[in-house]
Amino acid sequence: MSEESKVVVITGASSGIGEATAKLLAAKGNKLVIAARREKKLQEIVADIEKENGQAVYAVTDVTDLDSVKALAQLALDKFGRIDVWMNNAGLMPHSEFIKGRVEDWNRMIDVNLRGVLYGINAALPAMRDQKAGQFINVASVAAHAVHSGGGVYSATKAGVWMISEALRQEEAAAGSNVRVTVISPGAIATELVDHVTDSDQKKAMDSYYDQFAITPDRIATTIATAIDLPSDTAINEIVVRPSRQG
Ligand code: NDP
Repeated sequence: MSEESKVVVITGASSGIGEATAKLLAAKGNKLVIAARREKKLQEIVADIEKENGQAVYAVTDVTDLDSVKALAQLALDKFGRIDVWMNNAGLMPHSEFIKGRVEDWNRMIDVNLRGVLYGINAALPAMRDQKAGQFINVASVAAHAVHSGGGVYSATKAGVWMISEALRQEEAAAGSNVRVTVISPGAIATELVDHVTDSDQKKAMDSYYDQFAITPDRIATTIATAIDLPSDTAINEIVVRPSRQG
């Protein structure tokens, strides 16, 4: 059980890092509001949490739609009365070289990885300001710090998440709002992320890269729980967490 039960909203919670974090935080006694597009997966995760005597509700949410993200925030407020933590986690990584011209993939990454984070901030920050407390957990990537062939757009979106988070941190510190901002940059984590790579050459390369050493998403969940559980006068602003064997 954590010291204090918090209301935690997680986008992209229907699989991978979001699902693992929702389940861990619920097991620690927090109240979860989980969001993604696949309703059946969300229902199953809520049922799993309730089976363990945890509390969770879900909202089918598309983070590229501002009204949908605002409705998610409203659900948290209606159901639990506050938003203590908002985790901007939804994301995708369809790598490809520019010459392939996969403009649709570029646009989806910009819409979900970048615009989705901005919409999350827009939806949750006013409530946190009113509460005079809150925390954003923004999921970036080691790809925010380095770029490789095929990963130009993904790295651009994740570096953008880092920049947005740092500006938000400075603004909230200056306002004295007690809103904490944590960026987490994972390395290779075994989730569905690579399943959505549309370029077959990239997918083959990434599958074999991940097969070498990817770690399970519960490792990221544990790290996030640590950042949330710290006393409110202290903020972990950035975490880079990789498999020990990832170069
Ligand atoms: P998954 O593919 O397992 O999870 C991605 C989640 O995002 C799913 O729940 C998906 O749900 C959701 N999602 C995608 N598009 C939308 C949308 N438009 N609206 C709402 N939700 C959406 O991968 P991960 O768990 O790995 O990814 C989580 C985050 O971690 C991403 O931001 C990713 O970039 C980041 N990351 C992952 C790493 C890894 O190696 N796995 C490394 C570094 C960062 P649904 O389809 O139901 O909408």
